[in-house]
Amino acid sequence: MQVPMLDLNAQYEPIMPEIRAEIEKVFSSHAYKLGPQVKEFEEDMQSFCNVKHAIGCASGTDAIVLALIALGIGEDDEVITTPFTFFATAGTIYRVGAKPVFVDVKPDTFNIDPDKIEAAITTKTKAIIPVHLFGQPAEMDKIMQIAGKHKLKVIEDNAQGIGTKFDGNVAGTIGDIGTLSFFPSKNLGAMGDGGMCLTNDDDLAGKLFQLRVHGENPQYYHKWVGLNSRLDTIQAAVLLVKLRSLQSWSDARRKNAEYYYKNLENVSQISLPVTIKKAESIFNQFTLKAERRDELLEYLRSKDIGCAVYYPLPLHLQECFTYLDHKKGDFPISEELTEKVISIPVYSELTKEQQDFVIKTIKQFYSH
Ligand SMILES: *Cc1c(COP(=O)(O)O)cnc(C)c1O
Repeated sequence: MQVPMLDLNAQYEPIMPEIRAEIEKVFSSHAYKLGPQVKEFEEDMQSFCNVKHAIGCASGTDAIVLALIALGIGEDDEVITTPFTFFATAGTIYRVGAKPVFVDVKPDTFNIDPDKIEAAITTKTKAIIPVHLFGQPAEMDKIMQIAGKHKLKVIEDNAQGIGTKFDGNVAGTIGDIGTLSFFPSKNLGAMGDGGMCLTNDDDLAGKLFQLRVHGENPQYYHKWVGLNSRLDTIQAAVLLVKLRSLQSWSDARRKNAEYYYKNLENVSQISLPVTIKKAESIFNQFTLKAERRDELLEYLRSKDIGCAVYYPLPLHLQECFTYLDHKKGDFPISEELTEKVISIPVYSELTKEQQDFVIKTIKQFYSH
């Protein structure tokens, strides 16, 4: 039996006619950039996320860059984030000329440890970028409290947690700006790249709408220097249709996660991911900590089970960040996680038979 890490064929099959029809409309209008579907999708996202403004852009990476620029963060500024995340979280901080300052994560949730943030704050600190890793929000209550106390901005990197909630609030709408990615493998994936900023602040929204078109307003007049980062109308057409299924997809991922919790809890060589009380997860990934991780990875792959290591090298040890002068041991929890984590298939269309096979194979691996 084959169990892929993600089955886009199964995801698209039932909705493909609707998507084709919506894309056809774009071919008729030829409004390839910021066409009517972009606006429609932005409005649907406002309702879905219960937020005042949704600003589509070209990628999740650009969404963070736009958020940083909108908040006036650049040269000589420091931005606090986690070293255990996808590269873009810190790459964008560097890209706007600021310095990424890392704070270690918690060993059970993999999210930034709020208790370690204050020690990293200096007079140059301007913002915190918590990441809602694998679909579970970081501890936004504590993070917002620290940010308020030190007058810092908060950008939620919510590329992996669209629609998930912390304490009843939709993740990505709690800080000053939240960012989303529509990379094809995210919970709401486009047929290419796409991203979005969310905010409840009217001024920031106005600025973000301008920044994604080179900061122009009116046309050919520029108050700020922005980017060319529009959301393609074809991608908006795809996302518009797919958004209608997102809630049911997230529910299915949760159900699949539940099934793993029930059936893997007795395997002593692995620890299952922990969701804290105030948070929920939409399980963009189901990530275990496993003994003999690399062998398990090989074993599962030899049985045609898709699995992956997110992430094999923490950001403070990346070659491009050597100038930050970090060494091994600086963020021991993140470093240990890179050696222990393994993500197994949890996508919505996974069948019970496939899940049983994954469970059986993991148990088989540890029985000898
Ligand atoms: C995917 C991802 C991004 C970047 O999104 P793109 O759309 O690929 O540019 C940023 N941060 C995190 C945590 C991600 O997982």
